[in-house]
Amino acid sequence: MSLVCELAAPFVANSAVDEIDVVRPLRTHTAGCLKCQARHAAMSKTARELIALADEHTKAPADLEWRVMSALEGDLAVPRSWRTPMAVGAAVVSMAAAVIIWRFRPQTPASRAESRVSGKT
Ligand SMILES: [Zn+2]
Repeated sequence: MSLVCELAAPFVANSAVDEIDVVRPLRTHTAGCLKCQARHAAMSKTARELIALADEHTKAPADLEWRVMSALEGDLAVPRSWRTPMAVGAAVVSMAAAVIIWRFRPQTPASRAESRVSGKT
């Protein structure tokens, strides 16, 4: 492949994808060069295939985020969609634990007397 072919390659690719002519300084070369024409044909085919794929809408699997995050961060990865419910759940559990600990805290004589005065148990 000649140097001119290498210089023309991005312009050939651009013309194939955008379906326009190659820019004028390189057009005479690409019109007579079989390698550039082959590259243009291959790029055109690839562009058409990509455009056809873009029209297809495939729904991602439900566990895709989990699988990707697990692959990236290991088995302890938490998908972003689970982070808020997990944070709320953790806050509720910790508040419940705090209430239980407060309720069953050891009673001192002073706190028992205070509870009797205020009517609490
Ligand atoms: Zn060429």
